[in-house]
Amino acid sequence: MNIILLGPPGAGKGTQAKRLEESRGMVQLSTGDMLREEVQSGSALGKEAKAVMDAGKLVSDDLVIGIIASRIEQPDCGYGFILDGFPRTVAQAEALDEMLKKKGMTLDAVIEMKVDDAALTERITGRFTCAACGQGYHDTFHKPVQAGVCDKCGGTEFKRRADDNAETVTSRLEAYHAQTAPILPYYAARGMLKSVDGMAEMGEVTRQIEAVLG
Ligand code: ADP
Ligand code: ADP
Ligand code: ZN
Repeated sequence: MNIILLGPPGAGKGTQAKRLEESRGMVQLSTGDMLREEVQSGSALGKEAKAVMDAGKLVSDDLVIGIIASRIEQPDCGYGFILDGFPRTVAQAEALDEMLKKKGMTLDAVIEMKVDDAALTERITGRFTCAACGQGYHDTFHKPVQAGVCDKCGGTEFKRRADDNAETVTSRLEAYHAQTAPILPYYAARGMLKSVDGMAEMGEVTRQIEAVLG
């Protein structure tokens, strides 16, 4: 099964994608993670992307479409994938349709995670991850059981994203409403759009997604 998790920054896409990886053996394809790896590598492309990401704007369609097109060909994607953070523009959605058709792949569902804008700033500014295993946490909503120690791997180093600050959140939300929200009618018109209540607690959101996937 191949699906898209669609929602504003901080909606819980990454959190739920990781749960689906564990419960269903699907693979999470996060363009944000892929771009951050590119930035880490110090490449020219990474440097260019970093400036755009730090400003809370979207990197070019061509760049992310290229990244996804080659990622989707990897054999692990054959077990089903979860697109997290892609597509983010109508042009990306069209390019995705095109590449799936070429590869004989299908898209089974597009799940919109609805969260009020007012909740997103706190979601994003409180977000942190384990530096060793990538497990996600939140200052208020999901603290490690033992403070300073990762529940999953015992790691004691955590990191926060450079763009997870209140100023950048404003432009990321603007980008979402102006460039990404128009994808919703694109998929609704194709009868593929399903919505879940992203304001609910994490376990309830997981149950709603599982109910959609059947
Ligand atoms: P979030 O999980 O908070 O929505 P992401 O990790 O998905 O954020 O994305 C971080 C940044 O990476 C975005 O603000 C944007 O600059 C860039 N980015 C990620 N995916 C895309 C995409 N599909 N198209 C354009 N830019 C993207
Ligand atoms: P996205 O990938 O959509 O940007 P994340 O999955 O990274 O969002 O979630 C953003 C932050 O909000 C994280 O710190 C996460 O722990 C927390 N979070 C995720 N889902 C919920 C939820 N349903 N209720 C409260 N906090 C949540
Ligand atoms: Zn860890």
